[in-house]
Amino acid sequence: MTTNDWADVDNYLVTTLVGDEGVPALAANADAGLPAIDVSPPQGKLLNLLARTAKARRVLEIGTLGGYSTEWLARAVGDGGLVVTLEFEPRHAKVARENLDRAGVGDRVEILVGAALDTLPGVAEDLTAPFDLVFIDADKVNNSNYVQWALRLTHPGSVIIVDNVVRAGAVADERTEDPNARASRDLIDLLAAEPSLDATVIQTVGAKGWDGFAYAVVNGPNS
Ligand code: SAM
Repeated sequence: MTTNDWADVDNYLVTTLVGDEGVPALAANADAGLPAIDVSPPQGKLLNLLARTAKARRVLEIGTLGGYSTEWLARAVGDGGLVVTLEFEPRHAKVARENLDRAGVGDRVEILVGAALDTLPGVAEDLTAPFDLVFIDADKVNNSNYVQWALRLTHPGSVIIVDNVVRAGAVADERTEDPNARASRDLIDLLAAEPSLDATVIQTVGAKGWDGFAYAVVNGPNS
């Protein structure tokens, strides 16, 4: 199987199962020259389903791009829910704002512009936390820092998802010098060692190639 075969299956699944929610955002992102590094449509729908399964009403996202994943999450939190999403590039945030408003979910999304490690302290001071679900999809070298922040901003039972941790298998190479793969290994060490989290990593293939995501649940006192 090749990436082309995996993309064919993704296309089949979009036609049969996932539907075309968010497609206008993807088109607008391409028109605005944003890189096509959003989650794939089946992954976007999975985020939506996971957020609904967790009955998430407050979601924190780190890494907005043009708001494609944000839109799936915003639909999941429903009317009166809130997604706070953090984005470094003002140009990306502007496109995301337009996309989310056009999709009719802009009123439930707050976009904070700046480096996430600079904006997270403000999120912590705000009354928005605790979040029911945190989706981490920004600069991969900071994934462990973001999980540490997520632990401060969640409650027992909250879900933390970190995208792109498998890195075409490089995560299993203990001698890898790729900074993003090293960051994935550090993240997995953290997830394994952190007593307040239970976690796994699921490998994925599809239009975006071979990768995977970490899925963690914040433990409660009786876990
Ligand atoms: N979650 C988006 C989606 O699926 O539609 C894709 C996010 S894209 C993979 C990563 C985004 O993180 C980019 O827009 C990038 O500008 C942003 N980013 C990179 N470094 C960041 C940082 N330090 N703080 C906040 N955002 C950052």
